[in-house]
Amino acid sequence: MIEASKLTEEFGSLVFNDKIMRERLPKDIYKAVHKTIEKGTHLELEVANCVAATMKEWAVENGATHFTHWFQPMTGLTAEKHDSFISPTGDGKVIMEFSGKELVKGEPDASSFPSGGLRATFEARGYTAWDPSSPAFIKDGSLYIPTAFCSYGGEALDKKTPLLRSMEALSNEAVKLMHLLGYEDVNRVNTTIGSEQEYFLIDKDFYKKRKDLLFTGRTLIGAPASKGQEMEDHYFGVIKPKVSAYMHDLDEELWKLGIPAKTKHNEVAPSQHELAPVFETANIAVDHNQLTMEVMKKVADKHNFACLLHEKPFEGINGSGKHNNWSICTDTGINLLDPGKNPGENLPFLVFLMAVIAAVDEYAPILRLSVASAGNDHRLGGNEAPPAIISIFVGDELAEVLKGVEAGSAYKSTGKVQMTMGATVLPHFTKDNTDRNRTSPFAFTGNKFEFRMPGSAVSVANANIVLNTAVAEEVARIYDKLSSYKGKDLKGEVMKLLKKILADHKRVLFNGNGYTDEWVEEAAKRGLPNLKSLPDAMPYWISKESIDLFTKHQIFTKEEIHSRYEILLENYSKSIHIEALTLQEMIRKDLTEGLVAYQKDLSREASQKMTLLDKNSCKLEIGILKSLDKSSEAMDKALDKLDKDTKKAEKMTEALKTAAFYQKTVLSDMDEVRKYADEAEALIPEKYLSYPTYGEMLFSLR
Ligand code: ADP
Ligand code: MG
Repeated sequence: MIEASKLTEEFGSLVFNDKIMRERLPKDIYKAVHKTIEKGTHLELEVANCVAATMKEWAVENGATHFTHWFQPMTGLTAEKHDSFISPTGDGKVIMEFSGKELVKGEPDASSFPSGGLRATFEARGYTAWDPSSPAFIKDGSLYIPTAFCSYGGEALDKKTPLLRSMEALSNEAVKLMHLLGYEDVNRVNTTIGSEQEYFLIDKDFYKKRKDLLFTGRTLIGAPASKGQEMEDHYFGVIKPKVSAYMHDLDEELWKLGIPAKTKHNEVAPSQHELAPVFETANIAVDHNQLTMEVMKKVADKHNFACLLHEKPFEGINGSGKHNNWSICTDTGINLLDPGKNPGENLPFLVFLMAVIAAVDEYAPILRLSVASAGNDHRLGGNEAPPAIISIFVGDELAEVLKGVEAGSAYKSTGKVQMTMGATVLPHFTKDNTDRNRTSPFAFTGNKFEFRMPGSAVSVANANIVLNTAVAEEVARIYDKLSSYKGKDLKGEVMKLLKKILADHKRVLFNGNGYTDEWVEEAAKRGLPNLKSLPDAMPYWISKESIDLFTKHQIFTKEEIHSRYEILLENYSKSIHIEALTLQEMIRKDLTEGLVAYQKDLSREASQKMTLLDKNSCKLEIGILKSLDKSSEAMDKALDKLDKDTKKAEKMTEALKTAAFYQKTVLSDMDEVRKYADEAEALIPEKYLSYPTYGEMLFSLR
């Protein structure tokens, strides 16, 4: 346990961070590494050798015996293969060694990672390459080195490589534009991300008894408990002692790994919680989010919990997301999405704000796709998460600023409004310049945008790759239009251009309630896409517009785009396939076992009563028996259809058609089965069931 007074020392104690490098590396080597990190310059082998030796020394002092290249293949998970530092000396002894070559390059046998046809399976070779911009760390006795992962031919097979490329593309375009606007000291622009992570905690014993949670991460059957989230008594509620102990332990583990966990609270649904870190550079933030998810599960296990990261673990109860707070900041310290005191006059702010608005409108289908998964599709569009329609909330003050842009008149800030609460003892403070809108998928929140569609289980890399690239494209277009202008009144010219961009894209702005049917109608009138599922959105990924965007900015090659298309579709179909099989197994074995046992007891009870008394004495039992019989008959029929359709899907070969079949047919078959299963389950007492009910799972945490 970390004592509060030691926290500043313990934070990052397992990280090979800048401070350690400065203390331990020779000055010139430290400088060279820094240049690589800051400017992305190539690292010489002799520098790598020195860094490797120092890293090993530090790692061994801190209890590490192994090292691993840590990467993020297209499975959405992280991957690692551990090698020890030992090297035999020939006299039966060993020394601990780690070379620059081993630090810089790894060669995992990559044939079993998804490549989407980029590689024939016999071409097993893949490479991992050290990413010096994300610090190495120690976990479970190994030195973890963050790396990018590519094929023998150099194609990206991971999420880190395109993310780094997209950060660079945005930086390059933004720097050009900033120079044009007169900010010549800007050399680099950084994407910053803070991703708020939602999760559920349930008792570990419960988790182990449910095949659906074990195999698919979500419950596939389960009658609702008599109480749900309608009392709104969980959100920000008192944290229960066992959960509090978990959160405490989790914070400490994260802090040691240098992850700036900051906020924790109960969420809307029972047993649902959230953790938010302080924002960091995109690449590090994404690595840290992957690690956070892993540590969440590990610490949960220690506390006898299971941590559920699935987007929709329970039907009828809010699912979990990962709000992606996103901004861009220059190396001179200007947050380009900070409106400042006078937003109407703040040219960089206005220009970048408009670039974001244009990017989100123009590339909405790809942005939607960046958060699509079998899990997240259950969440988007429900009355809890943002709708599948992408719109932007800008809030009152920015709406006024934009009106000014439209009218060609400058907006004058009214200044901050004093908040008075009617009791003199309470402190006075100023109000934020806008209220919040919880229903918007893409909301301006003061000095950043909050993209609320990403799902809780997946890496936020995809969302940020698309966001960075789309904004880079709009910034490039703004630069192109302005750079040809040779006159004196640059500001006037910028405002004219912004007015035009606003006119083209203002359909995406929406400050109202995104959960209503009226909005769905209104959005359709405005021509905004409403892509409900991954198969609906997928064709946009390989559209000309998408290929042009990603190839122009060198984020993906055409082949890489196609490989990701295959991988996403295959992954989607496989997930639903596993769900379909699990549902069948759970019903045929677990639910049926309980159902039959209960029916047997009920019938015995009823027939005893009947012989002792009369027919009327067992009305209740017979009523339940009849209901159970009706439900199980319908369930059996629905199961047969599910079984037939699942087998049909197995034989399909074309990826998009198969995914669409799983979405339209198999998922609705599963819904149908569930309807009757839940009807039956609702009548069966808990003691007959081998698995825990919704009520037990959601309301028994202490
Ligand atoms: P809110 O109350 O709007 O959720 P917070 O200040 O609690 O705002 O921030 C939510 C998340 O946004 C945190 O992870 C925070 O670090 C992150 N954040 C704040 N500023 C930025 C920024 N400039 N860029 C990216 N993320 C940011
Ligand atoms: Mg928030």
